[in-house]
Amino acid sequence: MKRFSLGVAVAVFLSACSGGDGPGNTETAASSPRVSGVLSTREAKQLFGGMDAGSLQSPAAYGSYSKGCAAGAVQLPETGPTWQAMRLSRNRNWGLPVTVGFLQDLSRIAAREPGWEGLYLGDISQPRGGPMLTGHASHQIGLDADIWMRAPDRLNLSRTERENISSISMRRSSGAFVNDRWTRSHHNIIKAAASDPRVARIFVFPGAKVQMCNDETGDRSYLRKIRPWYGHHYHFHVRLACPPGMRGCVDQDPPPRGDGCADAQAWVNNILNPPPPDPNAPPPRPRRELTMGDLPAQCAAVLASN
Ligand SMILES: [Zn+2]
Repeated sequence: MKRFSLGVAVAVFLSACSGGDGPGNTETAASSPRVSGVLSTREAKQLFGGMDAGSLQSPAAYGSYSKGCAAGAVQLPETGPTWQAMRLSRNRNWGLPVTVGFLQDLSRIAAREPGWEGLYLGDISQPRGGPMLTGHASHQIGLDADIWMRAPDRLNLSRTERENISSISMRRSSGAFVNDRWTRSHHNIIKAAASDPRVARIFVFPGAKVQMCNDETGDRSYLRKIRPWYGHHYHFHVRLACPPGMRGCVDQDPPPRGDGCADAQAWVNNILNPPPPDPNAPPPRPRRELTMGDLPAQCAAVLASN
């Protein structure tokens, strides 16, 4: 059970990413058959949270970012020339091969920035994806990854150090602005991620998006993929698109057209001058735990596979 011995800082870090779906996450494809039978009523997070290794299957994402699983996921090596995986006790450094490849590529780009040896990499997915016992609504199909915004000054952290070191917040004024930790390197690394054709979306706090909008003097098209969202000031969240031809993987609707800078500025304005609460707003609906019956039928086979 060592994977659940998380410190308070980790819990805070995790909760910051639990809403990582961003606005307007609707499933576009018709849903595929769901798990049926006795298994269908079991809580999916208990089953997927107990998996220690990936399935010996062809790589595939089944379902959507917040309701699915991953077959044939591979483990990001704990340490590479330009990265370290953090919080190893969580065993969430598993993703589809495209995700692991993307992270390795991005870390090489990051290592060209002054003061950056590469990247500290946070959660990707569980070994077979699926819902988690703690944190994250998404990260279920091996195509989401959290990247720390703390510049790695060394890449020889021990396992213990990787449990205990925290990332660093880049925000001030509740996310309306970046603070003085934010650098041009953050801009360059997030820009490189957003410009990668494998990437569908990036979530980061509103003040960072506005800062990037204001600082960008060149091509602005990549800004469309950068989506302001709650939390995400210790790390940014990269969401890859379903790889071409991967049937059963459900993409999110693309972001709205345009660079999204006006919307991000509007969010910032609301942080600074919150509108009065709407007395007619419905109370938030409690989120029901996902059962196996909520997941695509293939997810039962992913669980059962060697
Ligand atoms: Zn995330």
